[in-house]
Amino acid sequence: MASSKKQLVVFDFDWSMADQDSDRWLFEVLAPDLRRKMRDRSREPGKTLQWTDIVSLKNILHIHRHDIENAMRQIPFHPAMKRGIQLLKNPTSLDTTLFILSNANTFFINTILQHQGIRDCFETIITNPADFSDPEKPNRLVLRRRVGPDDLPHGCQVGCEENMCKGQELTRYLDAHRQPDNTEFDRIIYVGDGSNDFCPVLRLRRQDVVLCRRFRGLERKIADERAKGDVSRLQCTVEYWSGAWEVEEKFKVYAQGSSLGVVN
Ligand SMILES: [Zn+2]
Repeated sequence: MASSKKQLVVFDFDWSMADQDSDRWLFEVLAPDLRRKMRDRSREPGKTLQWTDIVSLKNILHIHRHDIENAMRQIPFHPAMKRGIQLLKNPTSLDTTLFILSNANTFFINTILQHQGIRDCFETIITNPADFSDPEKPNRLVLRRRVGPDDLPHGCQVGCEENMCKGQELTRYLDAHRQPDNTEFDRIIYVGDGSNDFCPVLRLRRQDVVLCRRFRGLERKIADERAKGDVSRLQCTVEYWSGAWEVEEKFKVYAQGSSLGVVN
């Protein structure tokens, strides 16, 4: 039976849904020498890597579309994460919407989700656009930043990378999905791991939850914020996980209406 209770589950992609970084995985599989070069460059003082730019560089021009697709189909994707996602989309007493907010790109994410058979579980994917739209080079992946170098800067003060402020994107999504009577989602669950997930997590409310992967940037950011005590900006509940099976266990609870006070 349909419920009036609505929840939104937001997923970061790399290291949160996929058990790997999709950009780096591409290099691991198809261009290991370049992978090493990028690592060395990232260690140079003052260098900020924009992977969106690197992936689209001439360095991978020789890589054919089929090779990229095959590499993405091999990316580690834990079966427990897949089961958890499917569980949330099963008809339950809650109306659950799944949304991806990622700094990867549309081509990688769509290829991976289609291969896993779960693309249809997600209503919206907000990430960097990527396609093979260059008519003169039909096998060249054309990858653009979500916020390009010529666009108005997003002006984030929390520390998002210049190509995307995930907090701003989350707020835009929520504004666009506000009901006619101005009601919002009853609960937002945010699954993330990286330091760039911190900005959207700061925008979550008291009734919302972040499922934070341990030992990565987001955990450190949350610990620093909590250490501020009374002036901490963090309002939501924080739950930690290390393996995808733990996320699946949490989703078993959050898929039930009783977790939002709905009597079945
Ligand atoms: Zn931001």
